[in-house]
Amino acid sequence: MNQDSPFHGAPEGAPAATPVSSPPVARRVALRVEAFSKTYEGQAAVKDLDFQVEEGEILGLVGANGAGKTTTLRSIAGILPLQAGRVHICGHDLVADELSAKRELAWIPDDPQPFDNLTVDEHLQFTAALYGVEEWRERADELLKTFELTEKRQALGGELSRGMRQKLAFCSAWLHKPGVVLMDEPLSGLDPRGIRSAKDAIARLAREGSAVILSSHLLELIEELAHKLLIVHRGEKVFAGTLVELRTAFRGAGGGSLEEIFLEITETKDP
Ligand code: ATP
Repeated sequence: MNQDSPFHGAPEGAPAATPVSSPPVARRVALRVEAFSKTYEGQAAVKDLDFQVEEGEILGLVGANGAGKTTTLRSIAGILPLQAGRVHICGHDLVADELSAKRELAWIPDDPQPFDNLTVDEHLQFTAALYGVEEWRERADELLKTFELTEKRQALGGELSRGMRQKLAFCSAWLHKPGVVLMDEPLSGLDPRGIRSAKDAIARLAREGSAVILSSHLLELIEELAHKLLIVHRGEKVFAGTLVELRTAFRGAGGGSLEEIFLEITETKDP
């Protein structure tokens, strides 16, 4: 299975919003990350990272190139082995209870690679079987319509454009109503209508109770969709909270937009 397949978060061999400034009422924690660290060949990529995401909450993960965002997401998704720290997904420990943890997870990489020889329809059928989703057909039809893939349902994975692969990853992730969804630059490659549909679908997913981590360099997207922010710099957490809290914490930084504060934080933290 391709490491960046949207299906990668599934159990191996098993049947398988409001904007940043107004967070929803606190609910149960869906994702908890504790003391997570990761090194590549002795070089620290992420250092002692703690954060959590509640049900129905969208967390915007922000950081400069090389800050450690993808490393963090791939480790939570189980694509990279968890080197240090603990990850709980809907109450299941990712290491001790891997199957149950991954059953609650969906992963949308920035360039999803579906199976070349399965059709769009077969991908959804496969996802439904993998996650034990019954009565999936109606939901699949609705998702295909939302993401304008209905005409492509008989197309093979290898015949899809990049944006269509992205849309198929959305449909697959949405099909099994995961407790936690990880997204790495989910809008790259989408056309304007696809971007609109994806934004609406992300907000809806959270309203239906999923916890979402949205990693993106598009700060306007983060401001529009995320309830909370996690800003990482050189592998370390530099801020976690709402945009209002960010503005209070960094009063005087830039003119108060997320972009200006982000630029100021990452500049002053450089050696
Ligand atoms: P970007 O915004 O550019 O995607 P990122 O925040 O996702 O960056 P990561 O890809 O997690 O950052 O990289 C964090 C650090 O780990 C960087 O210094 C990077 O060079 C390093 N790194 C990532 N993958 C590897 C790898 N396979 N081998 C060695 N070092 C790596």
